[in-house]
Amino acid sequence: MTSESWLVPQSLKGGPILKHQKYWSTRNGHVRSGKTVAGSPEMTDSPTQRPQNSTKIPVEIVSEEEMALIEAAFSLATRSSVPPVSSAQFQRNARSIRSITLLSKRSFSRCSDAGVAGDIEDSCGDLGSTQKRNRVPQSLLHRFRARRGLSVTDITATEWCEKQMEFFLTIGKPKATKAMKAGSARHAVLEKEVVKREKLDVESVEDTWAIKIINFIVGAKQLLFDGLTRELPLIGFTDGVWMVGVIDEIRMVVTESKRNPTLVETKTRSKATLPSEPQQRNGRLQLMCYKYLWDSLLADKFPSRKFFDFFSLNPNRLLSQDIRDSTSKSGFPAETLDDLVRCLQNTCLMLPPTHEQLLLRYEFQEDHSLLREHQFAYDSDWIRDSIKRSLEFWRGEREPSCTSDEERWKCRFCQYASTCPMNGSAEGTPN
Ligand code: SF4
Repeated sequence: MTSESWLVPQSLKGGPILKHQKYWSTRNGHVRSGKTVAGSPEMTDSPTQRPQNSTKIPVEIVSEEEMALIEAAFSLATRSSVPPVSSAQFQRNARSIRSITLLSKRSFSRCSDAGVAGDIEDSCGDLGSTQKRNRVPQSLLHRFRARRGLSVTDITATEWCEKQMEFFLTIGKPKATKAMKAGSARHAVLEKEVVKREKLDVESVEDTWAIKIINFIVGAKQLLFDGLTRELPLIGFTDGVWMVGVIDEIRMVVTESKRNPTLVETKTRSKATLPSEPQQRNGRLQLMCYKYLWDSLLADKFPSRKFFDFFSLNPNRLLSQDIRDSTSKSGFPAETLDDLVRCLQNTCLMLPPTHEQLLLRYEFQEDHSLLREHQFAYDSDWIRDSIKRSLEFWRGEREPSCTSDEERWKCRFCQYASTCPMNGSAEGTPN
C-alpha cells in the first residue's frame, strides 16, 4: 500500500480569503508541487503492468519531467553555453531512434489498413489491447502516453521542437537546471498559498485516478465559492485522445451579467528580462490548450465509458478506505471511481466556460517581482491547428520536424544537439 496527501486550501496573499477545503496528493513523497499532477498512474510504458491490491503504486509526477524539457530549453536559451550530452548510453539510444520511428510508422499503417484509423476514437480505444497482443513499438502516443494520456506540456514541448521531444522520450530527460528547480520551487510556494496537502492511502490504479478527480472537484468548488484556485488538474477527451493538464491559477471574473473563469499561467525567469517571442508563443499555446481542454470537458461532460475503457479501469472497484473517508468528510461521499466520475460530471455542469482573454505572467525568480502581465485573446483556429499538428507527430503520421530556419538558434541550447541531425547548423540568436 502506498499513500497520497490531502490538500487544505489556505488564505491567499493578494487574493480572496479562502475557506479551508481539501485536496489530495500522494503520501509517498510526491506532493503536487509546480506542475506535478498528484495521484495519476505510473509513468510506465507498459500497459500490461497493472498494480495489484496493496502493492506499491508508482505515482506519476507529470510536470517535473515534462516541464523539464521545455523549461530547460527556455532557461538555457538565456545562457551562453550548454554542456554537451555525450554518454555511451545516450549515443546508443540515439542510434536506435531512427528504427523506432520507422517501426512506429509501420504500426500506424497497419491500423490504417485495418480501417481503424478512420475512426480516431475507436483507434484510441483499441490501443491497449493492440499493444498487449504484439510487442512491436507503436506510435509515441501508444508507447509513452497510453497509460496516462497526453499532457498539455507534451503539446507545448512538441511545438518547441518535435525532434527534441522525440529525443526526450527515447533517450531520456535533460538534467534539471538551477532555473528549472527555482521555477518548480516558486510554483510550490504559490500553491501553498492556496492549499495544504494531507496524505491518503492508495491501493490501486483506480485510487490514483480518484485522487486526480477529487483534486479537480475540490479545486473547481474552491473556484466557484472563493473565486480563485491554483494548480487545478484537468482531464479531458479531445481530438480522439485523453489529455491532462494542471492549470497554474484560475480567477473568477465577475461582471453584472456573468461569471467567467480566467486562466492564468505564471512563468518564472532567472533574469529580469522577457523571453523571446517563440517562448512567449509557447506560453500562449499552453494557456490556449488549457482553455481548449476546459471547454471540451464542459461540452462533452466527461465521457466516462471511454475513460474506463481506455485506461482499463474498474468503475465499481471499492476505493481505499482513506479515500472513502475523506470524500465523505468533504461532502461528496464516493465508494467507487464511478461515483467520483458522476460527481465530476455534476461539477462540470456548474462551471461556466472560461473567459476568452487569457493571462500570461512573467516573474523574476530572485525577488518574485512582476516583469510583465500579458493578456491576450483565445484563438480557436490557431489552437485547433496546433493540436492537430502535434497529434500528427504523436500518432506517428509523419516524421518529427526539426526547428525552422528562423528558430535554429534553439539548437545551440539543446542538450540533444550532439545527437541531432541538425547538429552544426545552429545560427542566429533568440529574437
Ligand atoms: S538540436 Fe535543434 S533540431 Fe535537434 S533536437 Fe535540438 S532543438 Fe531540435
